[in-house]
Amino acid sequence: MRILVTGGAGFIGSHLCERLLDEGHDVVCLDNYFTGRKENVAHLLDNYKFEMIRHDVTLPIFLEVDQIYNFACPASPVHYQYNPVKTVKTSVMGAINMLGMAKRVNARILQASTSEVYGDPLVHPQTEDYFGNVNPIGLRSCYDEGKRVAETLFMDYHRQNNVDTRIVRIFNTYGPRMMQNDGRVVSNFIVQALKGEDLTVYGTGEQTRSFCYVDDLVEGIISLMNTEAEDIHLPVNLGNPGEFTMNELAQEVAQAVGKNISIAKMPLPTDDPKQRQPNISRAKQLLDWSPTVPLKDGLKKTVDYFSQQIGN
Ligand code: NAD
Ligand code: UDP
Repeated sequence: MRILVTGGAGFIGSHLCERLLDEGHDVVCLDNYFTGRKENVAHLLDNYKFEMIRHDVTLPIFLEVDQIYNFACPASPVHYQYNPVKTVKTSVMGAINMLGMAKRVNARILQASTSEVYGDPLVHPQTEDYFGNVNPIGLRSCYDEGKRVAETLFMDYHRQNNVDTRIVRIFNTYGPRMMQNDGRVVSNFIVQALKGEDLTVYGTGEQTRSFCYVDDLVEGIISLMNTEAEDIHLPVNLGNPGEFTMNELAQEVAQAVGKNISIAKMPLPTDDPKQRQPNISRAKQLLDWSPTVPLKDGLKKTVDYFSQQIGN
């Protein structure tokens, strides 16, 4: 198949491009390089089945493909809040442009949605039928509401135009090829620990997240794209249900780096969700999928990557 990956030069997108090429597909990677890097896909350039296009998903583009993975969107709060209006445009106009392409060429299309659609959740762990608790006017809403509208568009293009859609709600994912200045907690802690700096714990550090290693996630995403079922168009959570406080994560990172660490407490960002854990029953039942990489092992691999990057 010929497969388009928007945001393909980003963290998750680059792993996805690599896996799809390994499976023998032609892969078109589309990116505006806002938070992505050519370096993430440089090792794929020798492969004649791989193409790169510098393009912004907020603008229309006409390509002929069989499948579309729509991953273009900054994912770290630091980056999606840098230009919030652009973040909304990327999610909303990006979804419209990519759904329009899917409709025109009859391609199957998968949207990278997020656990952020649950906001600061009052239901725990989060199941797909929970409508969420999102602040529509806060600093995180450009991302949260943008992704929620993208989901709406995916469901409406499916119901109205019969586009063959998939929606994955991705929970916190980590691994090699995150940027050193990504701003998300796993990369921050690892880079800080490797440089011998204090680990910046926001708030009390008792808020929780559940961290999925990128290889597990990519496995689940490809499986969702290629599974057929009556209710397959409805969202599917993908993530690792292992739940950790940020204080616990700091200790795990210390062990993975093999250094003593010290903590610097910093203010908690506004609307920071207090707890997050995926219920993955639907993914298990539909895709026979569950994550296999424990946090300790995934952190080791991520530490190895950042050590090389930093030159430790
Ligand atoms: P990332 O920032 O590394 O990748 C996003 C990519 O999209 C980058 O390469 C960036 O340059 C590109 N991009 C941004 N705006 C664009 C635009 N307007 N046009 C074209 N390209 C654009 O982030 P990631 O962690 O790889 O996330 C990928 C996708 O997965 C995002 O849609 C994100 O919302 C979603 N997601 C990620 C996580 C996670 O924990 N990593 C969790 C939930 C959802
Ligand atoms: N966080 C932290 N220190 C950091 C970066 C983040 O304590 O240097 C916290 C942040 O407040 C949040 C959690 O870690 O509670 C996860 O943050 P991240 O930005 O990685 O993801 P998200 O909040 O979008 O789930």
